[in-house]
Amino acid sequence: MLGVFGRVSRVRELGLEPDVVYVGLDRVNRFAEGVVPLLWVPKTSELEEGVVDAYGRRHLFAFGNSGCIANPRVVGRALKAVERVFELGFRRVMLDAIRLPSPVNGLLFLTTCFCSHSLELCPELGYLRNRVRAVLHSASAGDVVEVLEELAHARTAHVEYMLSVLYDMARELSVELVAAVFPYPLSRYVGQEPAVLKRYLSEVHVMLYHRCPGAACLNAELRGLTGTLNILRLGYGEIQEVIRSITGLELGVKEIAELDNGIALEHVEKLMDINRSIYGDAFTPILWLDDEVAPRLKRYLKKHRRIDVFAPLDRYHQAGLSDT
Ligand SMILES: [Zn+2]
Repeated sequence: MLGVFGRVSRVRELGLEPDVVYVGLDRVNRFAEGVVPLLWVPKTSELEEGVVDAYGRRHLFAFGNSGCIANPRVVGRALKAVERVFELGFRRVMLDAIRLPSPVNGLLFLTTCFCSHSLELCPELGYLRNRVRAVLHSASAGDVVEVLEELAHARTAHVEYMLSVLYDMARELSVELVAAVFPYPLSRYVGQEPAVLKRYLSEVHVMLYHRCPGAACLNAELRGLTGTLNILRLGYGEIQEVIRSITGLELGVKEIAELDNGIALEHVEKLMDINRSIYGDAFTPILWLDDEVAPRLKRYLKKHRRIDVFAPLDRYHQAGLSDT
């Protein structure tokens, strides 16, 4: 079973036929067999719907297209989109970016979200805001991991809130929810706790991109995290410690210095095994289809039975999945 985001012809060149093609909901006008609409959940262009950092400043995150998933207007828009999926005749939707900011967005990974809706959803954020400010002034690896752990709790509540609201509507309409999520354990720190995802999603598709430029690409996320830890003046040893704690990966100093070139597929394969053991039959890896992954694809398909690939479009620059 092969699912494709992006350029289908790239997959056919390899002698494979996709079973499913994921297409951004904005680009879907009518029902088509074998197509699953893809919904960018936190979508907004309004700064007022953005996330608020520990200093009260508002930001749009991911590709500058995302707001806080506790904001009622963002929630309302996502609900409308699920309704549209149903009206078009689809019975399944792939949710994308159901989360809060990730390391690729630099300091926002540590400093959001403290908007009034988030504070209402998780009152403990009021106290946490001061902890975050303190860590920005002076931090050890332990402090950073600790504060991220506390943020993870609040972020999980955000994701659970959005998912539960979408789930109630989807169930009423007999629309199945599946989602593209970050790999565990990094997923926890953007709010995607496996126990919560398993409660609402019939399939969990895990983005395991080894070499690409944007949000959810592991090398870009790790580079973002390293940059943030540099700003906090952590040394290399401490940076390695934080990376190990929150991503489960052991990266050498040379690998950290060369993240622009991607990360080794061995790391991706390790995360694939960890995530399969967590999600079981609900697990589908999404791989970044380049010349390195292509020769291994048939072997991966044999091992995991269901695989998705992201085949970058020629016009691909820094777009989200939903732009495919
Ligand atoms: Zn918020």
